[in-house]
Amino acid sequence: MVEDLQENAFDIPEDILDSIQHNIENIIRTFDVPEENKMEVIKQINYMYSRTKYLSYTDELTGLPNRRCFDNDFAKEFLRTQRYKNNLTLVMFDIDHFKFVNDNYGHPCGDYILKEISQAALQTFRQTDTVYRVGGEEFMVVLTETDISQALVPLERFRKTVETLNPVYNGQTLHVTVSIGAFQYNPNIKTKEDFVQKTDVALYEAKNTGRNKTVLGIS
Ligand code: GH3
Ligand code: MG
Ligand code: MG
Repeated sequence: MVEDLQENAFDIPEDILDSIQHNIENIIRTFDVPEENKMEVIKQINYMYSRTKYLSYTDELTGLPNRRCFDNDFAKEFLRTQRYKNNLTLVMFDIDHFKFVNDNYGHPCGDYILKEISQAALQTFRQTDTVYRVGGEEFMVVLTETDISQALVPLERFRKTVETLNPVYNGQTLHVTVSIGAFQYNPNIKTKEDFVQKTDVALYEAKNTGRNKTVLGIS
């Protein structure tokens, strides 16, 4: 069972696992674990570590990677893009009038909508494009190797998917929409915070100019 779960656990780089293993071996030596139990203890501790790491990077409700994971991944992706000048488009989307859903249909219904929209996002974007839940009803998508005009196709596809999702909760059909902001990396963007900020401005414009739309930011 430990092995099965380990298969699905968080992907930790080999060198980190090696150092954990080393620490575990030290612990075992210190606490004098009998030889025949050592492998099992190592497996259990490795599993607990992997599982903890996985949970710390995962949003419990939707199963999507969370804000911490975004911060971690995006820092690396940003550096890669700065160095190699590959295309990178950052996307932020936010559910429209979500407070209305909670207020009128209840919080569990809001949770259900969050899960449905997360699933729709996972199905729309490529596997290399990671979708993160970074706040209550706010999400980021990192579109690797994608310029802003290429981004428009999947973003509009996603927006229309949500628009026609019409999720049913307790026999009631709801109409939900999302607003989307996107921004492509350019060398004038000096920090990842600046990149996020520019993407946020695009989202803000989508909200302020009618919602249920995609705004591609320009520098
Ligand atoms: P806008 O179109 O401007 O984005 O309006 P909005 O109502 O979506 O935005 P607002 O920021 O006013 O409300 C966001 C709501 O999201 C309020 C909060 O209760 C709800 N929310 C945040 N996290 C969760 C959650 O995990 N579950 C549920 N059900 N609701 C959540
Ligand atoms: Mg909202
Ligand atoms: Mg919001």
